[in-house]
Amino acid sequence: MRILRGLVIHRFCPHAPRVSLKLIGHSRDKALMHLALTETVEGFGRMSEASVLEGVRLHVIWAFRDPELQRQQFEEAKQKHGPRNGIKWLAPPGFSEHQTGWVLDIGDWDDPEADDNPLFERTKAFKWLKENADKFHFELSFPPGNWQGVSYEPWHWRFVGTPEARRAFHPTGMHALRVWGRSLVEALRWWMHP
Ligand SMILES: [Zn+2]
Repeated sequence: MRILRGLVIHRFCPHAPRVSLKLIGHSRDKALMHLALTETVEGFGRMSEASVLEGVRLHVIWAFRDPELQRQQFEEAKQKHGPRNGIKWLAPPGFSEHQTGWVLDIGDWDDPEADDNPLFERTKAFKWLKENADKFHFELSFPPGNWQGVSYEPWHWRFVGTPEARRAFHPTGMHALRVWGRSLVEALRWWMHP
């Protein structure tokens, strides 16, 4: 398992059916709608209500991302960071946590400059999330030094408040073997054809 973990960067993730997705927010300019699974929408709703009481306004920057958009953005990341490094910034299509409907990139409404970048650490939203997100069943996917070797993303949170979501992100038993198998195939493919 250790060798596997050394190779695998992005794990295979389930893909949320489009029909189950609900509106969770809009981009700052209102041009884009963001969608997520009902339980994520409800969990985020409860969390935002609690944060507002403490003067923190959470904002959804990205939620569900379909594999086609993921493919375009992955190509852009490869261009920007180099073929072998792009993968540390963005998952290849089919391997993004964003396709699950349980994952949100969260920003601070009052600090747009920190959207989707490491400056997010300085925001009130991040400090609040670090203290409180677990009470609402959200966890950071890629903390510093995460075993997957994905760049630290303080803005990228996943909902683990249902048995299905927990199983997807913390697989055990036979399910873990399947997930690892698919992920390993992807990792090998990437090593051979970056
Ligand atoms: Zn993200």
